Amino acid sequence: MPRTRTVSIVATLRSTRAVTRAVTRAVTRAVTLAATFALAGAAAAQNPRTARDTTPVMTSSPLPTGRVTYRTLVETNLEMEQLAARYPDRVRRFALPHRTVAGQVVWALEITRGVAEPDGKPVFVMTGLHHAREWPTVDLTMEFVHDILMNDGQDPRITRLMDEVRFIAVPVVNPDGYELSRTLLNEQKRKSCRVEPGRDATLAECANPRYRNAGVDLNRNYGAFWGGIGANIGAGEGSFRGAAPFSEPEIRNMRDLFNAHQVVVALSNHTPDAKVLRAPSSPDEPTPADVEAYDALGQLLGGDLRWDAGPWTRIYYAASGTMEEYAYYSAGTFAYTFENTPGQRSFHPAYAFVVDQYFGTGAYPGSSARAGFLRLYEAAADATKHAVLEIQAPAGATLTLSKSFTLESAQVLRADSSRAGIVAMPLTLTSTTMVPAGADRVTWHVNPSLRPSQHAQEFLQESWTVTCTRAGATAGATQRATVMVARGKRAAVDLRACR
Ligand SMILES: [Zn+2]
Repeated sequence: MPRTRTVSIVATLRSTRAVTRAVTRAVTRAVTLAATFALAGAAAAQNPRTARDTTPVMTSSPLPTGRVTYRTLVETNLEMEQLAARYPDRVRRFALPHRTVAGQVVWALEITRGVAEPDGKPVFVMTGLHHAREWPTVDLTMEFVHDILMNDGQDPRITRLMDEVRFIAVPVVNPDGYELSRTLLNEQKRKSCRVEPGRDATLAECANPRYRNAGVDLNRNYGAFWGGIGANIGAGEGSFRGAAPFSEPEIRNMRDLFNAHQVVVALSNHTPDAKVLRAPSSPDEPTPADVEAYDALGQLLGGDLRWDAGPWTRIYYAASGTMEEYAYYSAGTFAYTFENTPGQRSFHPAYAFVVDQYFGTGAYPGSSARAGFLRLYEAAADATKHAVLEIQAPAGATLTLSKSFTLESAQVLRADSSRAGIVAMPLTLTSTTMVPAGADRVTWHVNPSLRPSQHAQEFLQESWTVTCTRAGATAGATQRATVMVARGKRAAVDLRACR
């Protein structure tokens, strides 16, 4: 009963009066600030107010849900459950495999038409809240989920994408940190609840002022180039990389999600620095082998947001162990970061700024996260940006696409700035689909088998292995093929003998 468990922890945390007062204060503050924006409108006029209180209250917003305040963790998790119940043909909720350091479940939503049916659609992954205080990233992600579900069948562009792409949203990668920040127990918390390397913790322990600066920076814990320039070595520092690559369950969740799907496009939402970022994020990386196509999409996103777009190393700061690095160097995924809701001197400004950021209105004229999200969603559907396998195999057969290789960390920095060796991480990517009943082939949208080198601007000449197995058949009824395929190319795979 994971949800019951979460609720009871939250109830414990919220049991002090001080917390209740702090929450009330913050909500009041947010609503007051939000009211400086022209969001009250006619809706507010319908609410009778006392003669003395002339402050307009934001009672609804143009967001798909009409929300006017940041979601809590409990609300977000409940909303995901409700979405799956309301739209069973298009939404599947699932738990990522690892519980957080404080024992919480991390939920994801998988969204496409016929979500329960296996298919060969390309996958677009969007995440929110690696960093605890970056609240807008939860709401931007959740509102986009509502947006595409509500506009499916109304807007032809969204209707087509609902048909052609499998969208996976992980609105809260770091629920422990979010709970601490969103309840204001530690409002400016950035990291996870790993209070001490190597041991789990309760949320109450994480809230202890003693551990105020503890935790791992989850966007420094991914394996590719982990431990290089652009992360802290000390556990109390702001960008602590963690004890080892993928030491944190929250990031093993993301690793396993990427490894089990053909994620062709990915977005990690952050705040508040007005950038569209791509790899390289650390100076240990080469120029990406795909730099032309990868950057071109980044520049279009920069246009949608009216922000600078480019590699972290050129337009931002160095960061090692980021989501982009893992997604790109493990599978060639075109992965980006958005730095949302800039210019408000806060990681979570008044909610009106979230509304403006979503639509590119008000404080952010022409800078629309929605436009960027839709561009990425559309990029996932564009076969020239990934690879396609045309597989002939008998109806009902299970098809598995796999490859194994070794991913490398950076030469790990020591506290005295010298470098230790590289951590080599054996890795297997495995995704599956099925040949539908009555069909004799599957079109599978996949990442290129050629993998970008971590050492030079070139591709590694790797292949996918495609395995066909028949349910209930004898062990001999398996057939394998290897296929090498580059970005933008199609390859035919003949597995008709799998019977
Ligand atoms: Zn961040």
